[in-house]
Amino acid sequence: MTILQQEPIAALATAPGIGAIAVIRVSGIDAIGLTSRIFRGKDLTLQPSHTVHFGTIRDSENTIIDEVLISIFRSPSSFTKEDVVEISCHGSDYVIRQILRLLLKEGVRMAQPGEFTQRAFLNGQFDLVQAEAVADLIAADSEATHRAALTQLRGGFSRQLKALRQQLVEFAALIELELDFGEEDVEFAKRDDLRKLVVSIQRVLRPLIDSFSVGNAIKNGVATVIAGKPNAGKSTLLNALLNEEKAIVSDIPGTTRDVIEDDLFLDGIRFRLIDTAGLREATDTIEAIGVERTRQQMDKAAIIVYLFDAAETALTEIAEMEADLKNRTIPYLLVGNKMDKLTEAEMTEWRLRFGKELVLIQANTGKNLDKMAQRLIGFVKTNAIPGSTVVTNLRHFEHLTQTDAALLRVLDGLDEGTTQDWIALELRDALHHLGELTGEITTDDLLATIFSKFCIGK
Ligand code: GDP
Repeated sequence: MTILQQEPIAALATAPGIGAIAVIRVSGIDAIGLTSRIFRGKDLTLQPSHTVHFGTIRDSENTIIDEVLISIFRSPSSFTKEDVVEISCHGSDYVIRQILRLLLKEGVRMAQPGEFTQRAFLNGQFDLVQAEAVADLIAADSEATHRAALTQLRGGFSRQLKALRQQLVEFAALIELELDFGEEDVEFAKRDDLRKLVVSIQRVLRPLIDSFSVGNAIKNGVATVIAGKPNAGKSTLLNALLNEEKAIVSDIPGTTRDVIEDDLFLDGIRFRLIDTAGLREATDTIEAIGVERTRQQMDKAAIIVYLFDAAETALTEIAEMEADLKNRTIPYLLVGNKMDKLTEAEMTEWRLRFGKELVLIQANTGKNLDKMAQRLIGFVKTNAIPGSTVVTNLRHFEHLTQTDAALLRVLDGLDEGTTQDWIALELRDALHHLGELTGEITTDDLLATIFSKFCIGK
């Protein structure tokens, strides 16, 4: 692959604001030569790749702006595969602005968001899935997100998909060739082999598609709705889990009227805890709005935790609730609070009736909250095989789903003995989606959309 060096661009690569050190990155044609014009120290143009040089940055009046360290990366051994210079200066807004201003005067322009990564992608440093993983890695705010992004960055599923796509391209070419022969009854592409290939691709796609619900949960947090009647102890539970007095705890039923959201990190997974107004036949309007919101929230939940006062609630009522929860097809956990008010016999009765769907806790002392946490983690982990690739990106998910659908139509076509042109059409569709996924097919629009989500300097 030939390396394309484009016009020089620069941007602050570290976070804006005051810090001990800031790094300004310059990439593109003559990045080293242009930087050397504002640098006093060794002649940078003569220095080898991967070396660091101490010196000063000076303006046209020879005034020292800062003492800096300059790292040199020569094409193609750099992030963008272009010539790259990294200027480590002091992390002051003023210094950063002045250095950038001097670079612009030398003919460098400010980089667009994600432009460095886009250039790296265009120069074959990595494929599109990996490029997007760079963005995800930077945005990662939990261990699980970080893990998912890192797997993708290392090649994740795209390498495997690329290889399979290549095989599919060959079949598509053979079928197109058959089309060229028109009426003649030729068969270059062995149908059985094609079928086998399609099935093997689907075997790779399906687990990836299935992983999206977990992947999405990992990336955006698992929406965990805590529902229950007023006074069940929702606020107390939330406070215990989050160790802070965010929700209002009171003895008057129905005081938690608004939806309160908070993040809880368990085993590296972010659970978005959503506390809601109690589920109760509401009499006054504010309360009614709260109840309505609870129902809406429950529909959007990834996990529902139904909390109830075990000492004040009949088994039959929870059995009814459980039936309702089962209908929603969302994983749920029944949590019986105030276990301190139960006798041993009553506890046994609850456990026998509801088995592992139930955890008995005492919210005001935190008793058994660890058990509850383990159950929550379990919901996410049973769906994610450790070490496997998890799809966290909606764009990937959509292309995977579309590819799968097109391949299914290819199989149907083969079964029904449909015409070559029809199969060729569906194959093209599958190839298109696979190609867009890994970036083998790109349009400027697509690239612009993806890379604009990056921050400047990346
Ligand atoms: P919410 O309306 O569901 O938010 O309920 P609260 O968290 O306000 O709790 C209602 C009442 O139950 C408060 O007086 C709490 O102190 C009390 N409570 C909460 N958890 C427990 C528990 O585990 N045991 C006992 N005995 N009381 C509790």
